[in-house]
Amino acid sequence: MIKITAKHYDVIIVGAGPAGIAAAIKLAQNNIPVLVIERGRYPGAKNMFGGAIYRKPTAKVIPNFWENAPLERSIITEELWLMDTTSAVKLGFSGVNFSKPPHNKFSVIRSKFDNWFAQQAVTAGAELLTNTVVIDLVYQQQGLIKKKVSGVKLDSGTTISANIVLLAEGGQAKLTLQAGLRDKLKAEDFRLYIKEELALPQSEINSRFNLKDNQGAIIAMMGQAVSNIIGKVGLWTNRNSLSLTIGANLQKLNEHDLELQEMMAHFKSHPLIQNLIKDTELINYKSLTVPDGGYHKLPKLYDDGILVAGNAARLVAGRRGSDLAMLSGIYAAEVITQAHAAQDYSAKILKIYEQKIKNSFFMQDIKKETTINNYYRTNPQIECMLSKSLNNAAYKFFDTGFISTSDKIDQIKSETLEMQPLPQTISDLFYTIKRWSVY
Ligand SMILES: Cc1cc2nc3c(=O)[nH]c(=O)nc-3n(C[C@H](O)[C@H](O)[C@H](O)COP(=O)(O)OP(=O)(O)OC[C@H]3O[C@@H](n4cnc5c(N)ncnc54)[C@H](O)[C@@H]3O)c2cc1C
Repeated sequence: MIKITAKHYDVIIVGAGPAGIAAAIKLAQNNIPVLVIERGRYPGAKNMFGGAIYRKPTAKVIPNFWENAPLERSIITEELWLMDTTSAVKLGFSGVNFSKPPHNKFSVIRSKFDNWFAQQAVTAGAELLTNTVVIDLVYQQQGLIKKKVSGVKLDSGTTISANIVLLAEGGQAKLTLQAGLRDKLKAEDFRLYIKEELALPQSEINSRFNLKDNQGAIIAMMGQAVSNIIGKVGLWTNRNSLSLTIGANLQKLNEHDLELQEMMAHFKSHPLIQNLIKDTELINYKSLTVPDGGYHKLPKLYDDGILVAGNAARLVAGRRGSDLAMLSGIYAAEVITQAHAAQDYSAKILKIYEQKIKNSFFMQDIKKETTINNYYRTNPQIECMLSKSLNNAAYKFFDTGFISTSDKIDQIKSETLEMQPLPQTISDLFYTIKRWSVY
């Protein structure tokens, strides 16, 4: 644990994830005294995602970061597999231009990346206190009714004061709840994920995924192979390993009495997946919950002496989260810098932060995801039905037999219509691609 140098900071940030560290770097660059408090032994020790970070938002915090950061691969291939029990219909794109600077996205291992990212904040002048849990917020009375957040209480019992506290504490958001900025959440408001990291030599990864050097691939998978409920699998290629994640809405898992471990085992036994993961060795396993539920579940993002960023603010759209976390951290730093200049940390000034978030491009994606989620809720079998009918059609289409092409297409049409009406299939396909597009 690193010792801190003061009992008071202008800004205390709870959490050294992408949101907290992006804010810390910007604040330190503006010469504002800032302390980041992280419960892990080191930043990233407790964190996991699929996953990929995105070049444009990350470069807003550290230009040309790809020259020094611990990155795994530069992603050139993105695929979506709609899977049935023995087959998959694949949509995808590969673009080798993405493997050249300035690149597009990178697979990363959070324990390495977050640690490096946090060191950039320290280099910029922020202080970092690890292995320490913030257990409560401290308040200052302002008049008879009004209270302003004025610091934090640590698990050691120590309190540290601050002009403002930025909560970047991730999806569980316990302090955000304690601060009265959000309601209690239910199981339906979360997705539960597990992740396996499977070791595989670089040359094997390159040959299995048709990649060269440090080019990478991401494959999103859905359908029968995952489960009979809405479940999602993601596969990311790292330098010498594969990341496999599987996740589903927590309430759906409970309702269907499903275990993610069993779903993962079922998925890994799919013949197409067996080929990709054969001879791998499990080297890491983690689980995590992330917010589910979209726009209407957003908490209040500010109050007197407090702001909320990243997953704590439920800023997630599809699998995009680390970039929205960084961008919200940047916005928070901008507004805190304004408040610092005015020496006014009241809700009146901090409200600008919420306006920035609500006017952002990513809020459009979050709103869009709400519509998609609602569609999924009323059509829970969408991915399985769609995968089943598309795979069935593809099997028929590629089966070379004694039938003319036009008769074959008529046969496929009538069989697909028997499974479900055409408008439903078209609408399912539309929403599935929409859901993928926010990945
Ligand atoms: C399976 C999966 C795949 C994903 N894939 C991607 C992807 O490919 N790309 C992408 O952009 N996003 C992805 N995400 C989402 C992404 O991981 C999150 O959106 C992002 O990590 C949010 O960043 P954050 O800084 O808000 O929170 P976090 O990364 O959760 O960081 C919060 C930090 O706060 C610390 N903390 C919490 N409470 C306290 C406390 N009381 N005291 C001290 N410290 C505390 C935690 O230890 C943690 O370090 C994925 C998520 C999952 C689950």
